[in-house]
Amino acid sequence: MKNTIEGFGEKVFGLPIMEKRLSAATFASLKKTIDAGATLDAGIADEVAEAMKLWAMEKGATHYTHWFQPLTAATAEKHDAFIFPDFKGGVITTFSGDELIQGEPDASSFPSGGLRATFEARGYTGWDPTSPAFIKYDEVGAATLCIPTVFCGYNGEALDKKTPLLRSMKVLSEQTVRLGKLFGVDCGDTMAKATLGPEQEYFLINAELFDERLDLKQCGRTLFGRSPAKHQQMEDHYFGAINSRVVAFMADLDTELWKLGVPSKTRHNEVCPGQFEIAPVFETLNIAVDHNMICMEVLRATAEKHGFVCLLHEKPFAGVNGSGKHNNWSIQGPDGKNWLKPGDNPHENAKFMTIIVALMKAVDTHADLLRASVATAGNDHRLGANEAPPAVVSIFLGECLHDVVEQIEAGGAKSSKSGGHIHLGVDSLPKLPRGNTDRNRTSPFAFTGNRFEFRAVGSNQSPAGANVVLNTIVAEAFDEICTKLEADKAAGKDFNESLQALLAGLIKKHKRILFNGDGYTDEWLAEAAKRGMPNLKNCEEALEPLATKKAKDLFAKYGVLSNEELASRYNIYVEGYERVIAIEAATAVTMARTMIVPAVVTAIAEYSEVDAVKCYADEMSALLGKVVIGIAKVEKAHHPKDQIVAMGELRSAVDALEALVPADLWPLPTYADMLFI
Ligand code: ADP
Ligand code: MG
Repeated sequence: MKNTIEGFGEKVFGLPIMEKRLSAATFASLKKTIDAGATLDAGIADEVAEAMKLWAMEKGATHYTHWFQPLTAATAEKHDAFIFPDFKGGVITTFSGDELIQGEPDASSFPSGGLRATFEARGYTGWDPTSPAFIKYDEVGAATLCIPTVFCGYNGEALDKKTPLLRSMKVLSEQTVRLGKLFGVDCGDTMAKATLGPEQEYFLINAELFDERLDLKQCGRTLFGRSPAKHQQMEDHYFGAINSRVVAFMADLDTELWKLGVPSKTRHNEVCPGQFEIAPVFETLNIAVDHNMICMEVLRATAEKHGFVCLLHEKPFAGVNGSGKHNNWSIQGPDGKNWLKPGDNPHENAKFMTIIVALMKAVDTHADLLRASVATAGNDHRLGANEAPPAVVSIFLGECLHDVVEQIEAGGAKSSKSGGHIHLGVDSLPKLPRGNTDRNRTSPFAFTGNRFEFRAVGSNQSPAGANVVLNTIVAEAFDEICTKLEADKAAGKDFNESLQALLAGLIKKHKRILFNGDGYTDEWLAEAAKRGMPNLKNCEEALEPLATKKAKDLFAKYGVLSNEELASRYNIYVEGYERVIAIEAATAVTMARTMIVPAVVTAIAEYSEVDAVKCYADEMSALLGKVVIGIAKVEKAHHPKDQIVAMGELRSAVDALEALVPADLWPLPTYADMLFI
């Protein structure tokens, strides 16, 4: 038996294929670019392009596309055929190095947030050789070679999500390598990298029910609907045996993802009926982000093949669990080791604790930016809405690590728990509980033994934004810590002494960010307010930190986003939010007017004829009056806040009617129909 998965990566132009199909010199040069971030040698581009084209054509591809991630929630592609006239009436196939490296899509139809006037429509895409090209087949079998690229305006300003992500990875790498040197890790040119394993939650519903719900089609979520008597309160769905139709879907999904080189590993039922999760094995951050975008696409396409629709919205159904994307993030040092794992010796442990304290500093200083990175209309239904996770960003370290942090703060004082001194760089840490033993599901930012899990990312969002923030704020913390330690060293101070003093000071300053309790309780919200921690409840408020001087200075200082690039994102996200709410408002009005009102009128007419149920007719009439008022209110509202309030009132009248109108007259599939597949 072969110890491999048949077909894994067969649609990917990855390192093994490159090695086979490129000359040794070209392969070595390209590998250096991929592994060590060396500048791409333009001289090899023609050979790589030709090899890619031949490989893709053997797989049935006729077209290629620069595949990129504009500032929308989706990916973008524009296909070009591999053809060129031979000027004798026929064509030859070509794909040049220039075409591989750079494309010029018309940028005017993508959001630029004011970065570029529409008359300056040209933008360009640039190859990201670190993320492998792949072949995408659509349902009818057309195959396209997809080349992951960045997307920029003509002056180099980033118009996409990948460019700042790559920039933030670079600064994090530089600062990590610098930090490592202080702890005796010197690996020459080798970079450090961030790693990511995004767990993806989603719902499946039957396609024919989806087709009957205008709200799902237009908004991705239900705008009306009563919670069924039984939903998730029996707690029997999470990790339960998976329905066989869903298993068939999941098996197909994994096969497709594996062919595309996406290492999907874990699949299970989630908390709510109809809700599921898929998690890959972690990878280098930018590749993991690309793979998550691919995963979302394949989820949708595979669902369709199986007669389902995959809902990636953060809250498709009110009153039951929403969907998130748990962002498992860590740092792999230049030595190839995971630096968020407690080490084997006192020196490594001192480095580990320094990184933990740096994260405390980073998250406490910029909790508002992390919150901003997950602010969307959809995520408003999770964050700050009494659901996982809360809108207040705090860190969970677990009891044991928390205790170590407190001991360092006390300067190596006698500890009540482990009963010993901890002197950084000299003593070992007490055994920390490994992995899953110590869990807090209510924390938005939790240490889980060898990584941090940021749980506030929305299921529908690209993970890029949150990781741009995370990389940059951690790079800043490392930078400041290194600057101090290097100065102390130059002044001849003892390293362990100066580290101990520095960390104790940082802990004192930032320990308010630590919270091990239940993040959902009102007591915690009150306590967080007392600690002066931001609690940004809705998208509008939560985006504001992007417009502050603190944010502008941070991203500009590290070359991740210029002030203009940051401003463009702020504009795009605010506008996007307003648009989503406006679409929801218009959809709610249409459904209420053209579907709900007529059904209720029929029901009232029928019931009015029978004395015994006339009282039901009166009840429905009263509610119908509220619906009519509600519709008018939604139509009149123009600001998102007012639209949301008005939609809420309209919804409560409609949902009350759902319990009274005869089931055969009710024009919408119910929650019970949709959630139990
Ligand atoms: P759980 O639901 O128990 O949190 P899962 O297995 O569903 O765990 O998901 C955990 C995710 O964390 C996986 O994608 C896994 O690959 C990822 N992960 C593990 N180690 C690291 C690491 N060092 N860096 C980034 N992600 C990691
Ligand atoms: Mg999981």
